[in-house]
Amino acid sequence: TEQTLGRLAEESWSRFDDHDAMFYEGAWFRSHALAERARRMCGGFVEAGIRPGDRVAVMMATSPEVPLLYQALWAAGAVVTPVVFLVGPDELRHILLDSGARAIVTSPELEETVRAAAVDIPIFVDTAELERAPEHGLVHRDPGDLAALMYTGGTTGKAKGVMLSHQGLWRVARAAYELSRQEGRNRALVPVPLSHAYGLIISVASMHAAEPQQAVLMRWFEPKAFLSLAAEQRVQYGTVVPSMIQMLLAEPLESHPLPDLAFLTCGAAPLGRETLAEFERRMPGVQILEGYGLTETSAVTTFNPPDRRKVGSVGLPLPGYTITIRDSEGEAAETGDIGEICVSGESLMLGYWGEHEPDPEGTALAGGELRTGDIGCVDDDGYLYIVDRKKDLIIRGGFNVFPRDVEDALNQHPDVVMSGVVGRSDPRVGEEVVAFVQLRTGAQVGAEELIAWARDRVGRVKYPREVRFADSIPVTSVLKLDRKALRAQLG
Ligand code: ATP
Repeated sequence: TEQTLGRLAEESWSRFDDHDAMFYEGAWFRSHALAERARRMCGGFVEAGIRPGDRVAVMMATSPEVPLLYQALWAAGAVVTPVVFLVGPDELRHILLDSGARAIVTSPELEETVRAAAVDIPIFVDTAELERAPEHGLVHRDPGDLAALMYTGGTTGKAKGVMLSHQGLWRVARAAYELSRQEGRNRALVPVPLSHAYGLIISVASMHAAEPQQAVLMRWFEPKAFLSLAAEQRVQYGTVVPSMIQMLLAEPLESHPLPDLAFLTCGAAPLGRETLAEFERRMPGVQILEGYGLTETSAVTTFNPPDRRKVGSVGLPLPGYTITIRDSEGEAAETGDIGEICVSGESLMLGYWGEHEPDPEGTALAGGELRTGDIGCVDDDGYLYIVDRKKDLIIRGGFNVFPRDVEDALNQHPDVVMSGVVGRSDPRVGEEVVAFVQLRTGAQVGAEELIAWARDRVGRVKYPREVRFADSIPVTSVLKLDRKALRAQLG
């Protein structure tokens, strides 16, 4: 089959009989009606003058329209540029100008932000105008053509456009679907934003489905709503990130049995072993399947299949990806040795859009290999383990402290919902380890006790010398710990 997303969308529209396909804010939407809307949106884009290769920004909170817009744009031959709905006018302006977007589709509550970005392109406020157009046939694209331009930079620096091809997204989504699917389990709860690479790949994976899929969409994750929706709609699996698990653990899980829920795919940020174990203990019958990836690898590089998972590992490379661990000289490390995770393979991004300064600490593509900026190791069976990000390393008095180890220790404390550890520059030791901690409502634990708790677990070098309590820990749109914001709070 031709590995383009327009063709894939078209096939998916007529693969199954009409069925309930998406649930959103209290109502189910039927698959055939949704497909017809996507075809009309495609016609709307063509009518509006969108040509093959044109970038079109989609800035909307999760709703059924988002995946339809992606399908419509791919069918029209255009390049999807998803924009996280939380970005402000300045960042949006940067994205629109940098990408050279020809149009933007948004929703009424975001119209003001879009207008404030003040870029002279057509703005579609909701999809109604697009849907008035007659349906339009598929516009041809080649598998190697650009399908999505994803802006990344939320947690580190200036947003850069990651160029993903039709074929790359097609293959990664196919592999992710095949590795995670469980027959008869097709009803998913989707609380991750569809504008993030994780959500984008979920949207593409559902177009590969061999059985009719049913997605229960959440506009925004909230632990209580997650539990009640999962119970009410009897969802069978879910797509989450670690902080969601962390927040769910602060709820009385025992009084929310979810007998239909079989597994949760989890990735995008570190998940502590203990966190995983506690969740599975308190939610019997649910298996957490961890994966790892970057926007640059179409969101999924490794995954733990249900029958072969190793707890603590992020799993095996997807078919088509090869992982090499490299030491500081760039030499391939021995099995088990820690170094930088490098990824090669046919589904890697095409590159970054436009010109960019190489980032010595961050992610870079060189010689067909992606340097991820992440530190990890691979075991004898080929499973990958993540230690931390290179740029998050704290060097205290000459010793390496990976914030993740300290956070894992703090997160194990029964009163802690979530923690974030950063380095504060210090004249004596270079960098001092500082922990921000969000406590469970009503919890009484003091800073001294938490410091002692962490010291008992991570030892005398790495433990935080300072604990600051916060009402909430800053997170990005995909609920990743936002270290940039934490560092800013250090003053
Ligand atoms: P930005 O580039 O926008 O600042 P980001 O670096 O988080 O944000 P993404 O492409 O969204 O960009 O995320 C990729 C990173 O997420 C990886 O490089 C890795 O550090 C982290 N990550 C993803 N999955 C896992 C996981 N299972 N365990 C630990 N870290 C993970």
